[in-house]
Amino acid sequence: MKWKGRRSSSNVEDARGRQVSAAAGGAGIGMIFNLVGRTFGFKGILAMLVIGFLLWQFGVLDPAQVISGKPGVTEVEYQPTPEEQERFDFVTVVLADTEDVWNEQFRQMGQQYQEPRLQIFSGRTNTACGMGEAAMGPFYCPGDSMVYIDLSFYDELARAFQAPGDFAQAYVIAHEVGHHIQNLLGISDQVHARRGQNDFNEMSVRLELQADFLAGVWANHNRQYLDQGDIEEAMQAANAIGDDAIQQRTQGRVVPHAFTHGTSEQRMRWFNKGLRTGDINQGNTFEGPYDRL
Ligand SMILES: [Zn+2]
Repeated sequence: MKWKGRRSSSNVEDARGRQVSAAAGGAGIGMIFNLVGRTFGFKGILAMLVIGFLLWQFGVLDPAQVISGKPGVTEVEYQPTPEEQERFDFVTVVLADTEDVWNEQFRQMGQQYQEPRLQIFSGRTNTACGMGEAAMGPFYCPGDSMVYIDLSFYDELARAFQAPGDFAQAYVIAHEVGHHIQNLLGISDQVHARRGQNDFNEMSVRLELQADFLAGVWANHNRQYLDQGDIEEAMQAANAIGDDAIQQRTQGRVVPHAFTHGTSEQRMRWFNKGLRTGDINQGNTFEGPYDRL
């Protein structure tokens, strides 16, 4: 994909230097006091308070955080490797690309596109949807209209999922932005309202396939920047992260009723349909029988 020197989005937040610790828990502190008191008596507790006070003085410990049990946030200066920084810059260009395409598509529908924000984090992060962790892979939170990604996912995509290449990486962002489009159009709300119902899993697959379709629509309107082999890279990624492929690798067997993203074949088909048509109206994954998606 041709991306160097092109416009980068101003909607990207760099949170790589933000370290979020898990909740300490107020109950845990009570337990420690109890234990120290029983083992070392009153002097033990006194010693612990003195140590705690010193740690607080030196900025190592935040008493408010210890008592409330809320996750603590510390900002450190993050020093990326040149390779990491290149990935970062790449993501800001891809996001700008999605802004250009979706601003135009919404204008054609007579609507105003509200651009999402994208946060690049490292390890874990606080979101309006709860704690986000790198292990979850990239995700979109409708609560704060934000796409979250830990760039180490791209290593996983290349190694574990055998889907290297910059366009595979771009596809991942375009898919998450697809969820943002669904949020703006009220589609995600309709699906999430069915949580707990029998067909929720099916609805969730339809939602995921539509996000793949929307990534394809984006790719269609971005053709001028594609290199030879880019589409294959995206298809490779769609193929690798299908539920059946993931289950096969992690459990050694395929359990269709537990699908929430669609099979590799379905994901490739819908991405391809978006790519071929470039028309947002061709992506109704909610009609038609489920077994024919
Ligand atoms: Zn998704």
